[in-house]
Amino acid sequence: MKLMIPASGGLDSTLLLYEALTTTAHDVVAVHYDEGWLAVRDPRREALAAEAFDAIAAWLRREAREFRTLYGPTVEIDSSSAPFPNAERPVRPGFAETERTGWHHEIFATHGHYAGETGADEAWVALNTWNRRRDTAWLGIERVAFRDRAGPGRALRYPWLAFRNGVWTGRSRLGNLRRIPAELHALTTRCYRDGGPGDCGACLSCLARVFHDRWCRSLDDVGLARIEERIEELAYFGRHFDKADAATYRHRQIDDVLRDEEGWRAWFNAEGIGSEV
Ligand SMILES: [Zn+2]
Repeated sequence: MKLMIPASGGLDSTLLLYEALTTTAHDVVAVHYDEGWLAVRDPRREALAAEAFDAIAAWLRREAREFRTLYGPTVEIDSSSAPFPNAERPVRPGFAETERTGWHHEIFATHGHYAGETGADEAWVALNTWNRRRDTAWLGIERVAFRDRAGPGRALRYPWLAFRNGVWTGRSRLGNLRRIPAELHALTTRCYRDGGPGDCGACLSCLARVFHDRWCRSLDDVGLARIEERIEELAYFGRHFDKADAATYRHRQIDDVLRDEEGWRAWFNAEGIGSEV
């Protein structure tokens, strides 16, 4: 089977690529998109991401096996004719906080474009449970945008996630931090802010890494699962999304949760799991 994996140079997609190369026999093509024009990126960060992708590909060819790489721009789409127009919309009906759908639409159209261009049977996208708190509303955007560009007979998959009983389950970002080989992790763009090796101390990538090293290193899988569940509860992910208050809900709640040193110390003491590092 031919597999297309969008690879940004960050933790999640790098690990997915590593897993596909080491645990499957699929014919893999990794595609890095130039996202420099996007508002959420910038040209300098994109240059660092492209460098990271090169280093990652070289490491994987040496340590895992051969595979194809491809570079290209994201596709431009006319969102005005799309089923979900390029506009702000509530993260959930009735919620005050909004998100832009256009960027999301562009990315999944690009996944579809390169799935078609590479002749892939499937595109695997490295979403973890922290990317999926919004029930299934966004699946519609993703599937339509992908299918319109990929053409028939190509599948869009999220290998780490499952949707059961109205809840997304699967691997979180912490689970990925636990699994990626340290050498490979060191090559990834580790910060959303500058793409460099530093710690901005503010972006989700840096916060997750600090949190993982502070609280999760010595835990077994059961302990980690309890932490993941607690994060979902405090940040209104998964089955806890329904408890979020429509007026005060913030997408960045997870940042506050990961930063809450005092709260976690108290929780660890009360739960009696693991030990402080
Ligand atoms: Zn950062």
